[in-house]
Amino acid sequence: MKQVIVFATANENKTAEVRELLKDLYEVKSLVDIGCTEDIPETSNTLEGNAKQKADYVKEKYGFDCFADDTGLEVEALNGAPGVFTARYGGPEKDAQQNMNYLMNELEKIGALETSERGARFRTAIHLIINGQEVGLDGICNGHIAPLQSGTAGFGYDPIFIPKGEDRTFSEMSSEEKNSMSHRGSAIRSMLEYLGV
Ligand code: IMP
Repeated sequence: MKQVIVFATANENKTAEVRELLKDLYEVKSLVDIGCTEDIPETSNTLEGNAKQKADYVKEKYGFDCFADDTGLEVEALNGAPGVFTARYGGPEKDAQQNMNYLMNELEKIGALETSERGARFRTAIHLIINGQEVGLDGICNGHIAPLQSGTAGFGYDPIFIPKGEDRTFSEMSSEEKNSMSHRGSAIRSMLEYLGV
């Protein structure tokens, strides 16, 4: 029987992606699969802290080996904002369009209109608890904020993020292409390497 590992997320798309990658060695369960429907607190002021908080919660309350992730968009000209507030930058509704409008506005306000002034990166922190060990891993995708929103695929800030070396936003790419260069793809590959998969 395969070892069970819980991905502390309610996002079934993210779970399916990781389940596929780990399928030979682990049975990946989501929060829904273990009956955890409550909102797990994420009150840290760092991505690493939030990932650890979510993983600790699942381990302590449900007893499973598990991992959790937390992602932030860090814009250079905004001193690393929105960072840990990425999901709710434009307001408490966590609305992607509002978040993007707010960010574009902030960059316009400070006159950061050229590509060279719009440097940004996505960063994903993962906290893994397995076989009595704990480890933090991360993945980074460098790039810049596009002058205009473009494309329809993906989610969140994908329509305004152009990865380094590309001239298209994440929203103009297939999911395979995005995963091959994305922050989360890279964090998950680090985790697979740690697990020896
Ligand atoms: P989470 O930690 O995966 O929930 O991500 C926090 C927030 O970051 C999300 O609500 C999105 O706004 C944004 N985000 C995370 N990953 C991506 C991505 O791959 N593309 C665009 N936005 C993302």
